[in-house]
Amino acid sequence: MILTILNNIADIIIKNNDYLTELDREIGDGDHGVNLARGFSEVKSILPTLKDSPISLIFQKVGMTLLTKVGGASGAIYGTAFMSGAMFMKDKTTFDDKTIVELLHTMIEGIQKRGKAQAGEKTMLDTLLPTYNFIKEVNDKNIPLITVKDKIVEVAKEGKNSTKNMVATKGRATYLGERSLGHIDPGAESSFLIIKTICENI
Ligand code: ADP
Ligand code: MG
Repeated sequence: MILTILNNIADIIIKNNDYLTELDREIGDGDHGVNLARGFSEVKSILPTLKDSPISLIFQKVGMTLLTKVGGASGAIYGTAFMSGAMFMKDKTTFDDKTIVELLHTMIEGIQKRGKAQAGEKTMLDTLLPTYNFIKEVNDKNIPLITVKDKIVEVAKEGKNSTKNMVATKGRATYLGERSLGHIDPGAESSFLIIKTICENI
């Protein structure tokens, strides 16, 4: 199932290459879609070799591939997220809701260690942090995540749309200052597409 999800994520990212690139053209250097599509094409090609591998190894290989093939800030950041996830999954034998919540937490921690960004700085974290907060809250109430998957997509969507009203203080869009207002952050959009794809495939 995890391989199918990763394959579908790759397809969605590749399909949205032009759109993500367009968003990055508005407030960055116009390479986010191209960068990610290159990395995820490579991910697609290694997935068949990982058929019987544990999740930690799958995450490690995906992380390494993104680190080496994507380039730009997002390559380092998404790559680090998967590498952190790989470390976390190493000694796990179950993949229940609690594990999923902790996994996302660990991946976000990796992103923040690497990029030093907080909520509200107009990055992918503005999609990921609200999503994490929501699933943590749901899991704390012992509600199965699967029953709120549409709501998870909504929260992620609100998160990425909220970047429109933010001035970038991390990443390349910082150079634009106030002029970054009114635009969705490309990384927030790609993170939304990833979360949406996960929710649609569970
Ligand atoms: P680059 O900016 O090097 O061209 P990309 O265009 O591939 O890299 O990715 C840009 C995206 O990376 C931004 O839209 C933002 O979401 C994300 N990003 C940039 N810097 C950071 C950071 N410090 N922490 C988290 N995400 C970041
Ligand atoms: Mg860019």
